[in-house]
Amino acid sequence: MDRYSEVINKNQREIVLLKAFPCKWGKCSFCDYILDNSKDEEEINKLNFEVLENVTGKYKVLEVINSGSCFEIPKDTLLKIKEIIKEKKIERLFLESHWVYKNKIQQMRDFFEIPITFKIGVETFDNNFRNVYLNKNAKFETVEELKKYFDSPCIMVGIKGQTKEMIDKDMEIIQDYFEHATINVFINNSSKVKRDEKLVAWFSEKYKFLINNPKIEVLINNTDFGVGD
Ligand code: SF4
Repeated sequence: MDRYSEVINKNQREIVLLKAFPCKWGKCSFCDYILDNSKDEEEINKLNFEVLENVTGKYKVLEVINSGSCFEIPKDTLLKIKEIIKEKKIERLFLESHWVYKNKIQQMRDFFEIPITFKIGVETFDNNFRNVYLNKNAKFETVEELKKYFDSPCIMVGIKGQTKEMIDKDMEIIQDYFEHATINVFINNSSKVKRDEKLVAWFSEKYKFLINNPKIEVLINNTDFGVGD
């Protein structure tokens, strides 16, 4: 599995995919990537330290992801990231967290002492589809409520059961209300959730202009950031 890469087309940055403790929620109906989680803290830190050795600071921006939330990354790894930030003069960090940790987001911002773009897996702003079908357990009601904690929503498109109207609304919200967002086109995995090819084709045609929007990163494949397998 590739765990270090560089994102070079928009918002240039280095990116590392670290190992972490199990995802606290762990029940999203579309997710099968929590298999990368571990309970062996020593093993997690050892691997993470090796991965972090690749970071050069060349873009002054680093994104740290894991199969879950940054709050599941062990303390020693977080301290190592902080050390690297100082050493390599990194000026911005991208982190991701589930809604359940919303009250700890500020603590993480304070810990790293540099600006953080906090991502969150929103998947869709349709509350029913997100929390009932996708079982996301991200129970915010409004965009304003989400923005109190998070900077950058990750949206999923192309799922069977999702409608064009839902996607249109999601695209409108991310363009109008956020400085940064990521769109993941759903790829079939071992979960019961399935990709809707017709919806993907419709989305790819209608929203191809987003490729030129510097604020919005579109991942056609889930390895498009160069990490994962
Ligand atoms: S929060 Fe993320 S890692 Fe955890 S189950 Fe949901 S999609 Fe998977």
